[in-house]
Amino acid sequence: IDRLDIEGVTVSDLTRDELFGRLRDALDRRGQLCLGFCNANMLLKALCLPAYAASLRSLLLVSDGLGIDLCSGLFRGRLFRENLNGTDLIPAFLAAETAPRSLFLLGAKPGIAEAAARNWALLHPQHRIVGVRHGYFAPEETGAVLAEINAAAPDILLVALGNPAQEMFIAEHAHRIDARVLMGVGALLDYTAG
Ligand code: UDP
Repeated sequence: IDRLDIEGVTVSDLTRDELFGRLRDALDRRGQLCLGFCNANMLLKALCLPAYAASLRSLLLVSDGLGIDLCSGLFRGRLFRENLNGTDLIPAFLAAETAPRSLFLLGAKPGIAEAAARNWALLHPQHRIVGVRHGYFAPEETGAVLAEINAAAPDILLVALGNPAQEMFIAEHAHRIDARVLMGVGALLDYTAG
């Protein structure tokens, strides 16, 4: 089998090139791909929180970190072919992508997504940041946040709300979000902001 299955949550054993191919496919063919970088901590949370497990089931999950690699060794008798963590891979994908893509950065504290956008504009001038929004909003503001994203209609929506919030946000709202690729990215915006 080419994936790890724990309680119905499946983590795909993709290489970085295969993952980049999946992302490009969704972007070029205007499908929709919801992606999570799954670490052992997220699996543990999923085991304790059925609603989180359900959210994770609707995402393409790739393996992030040593802990999940150990789970793979234990449960399926082999390690993942590659460790795919979003903090390294997303900037690498943006750098490798020559086709211009538009991005919306959702999450982190006020000011962080703006700073990340400024740094990415310098690093990846071929892409365009079409919107930013901090990640500290009340549930009743969700509709307005979705409207803001849809008004910008980004190719890629990066969701940095931490776990489990970011994967649950993506799973719950993807069907009414006008974006081709949605990814939960943890603390990436904080790193990018510097
Ligand atoms: N975050 C957010 N809204 C929240 C909680 C967290 O936007 O209500 C952001 C936080 O500012 C950080 C990112 O989510 O940029 C990841 O947070 P954290 O490191 O706490 O989560 P982890 O990824 O470690 O679970």
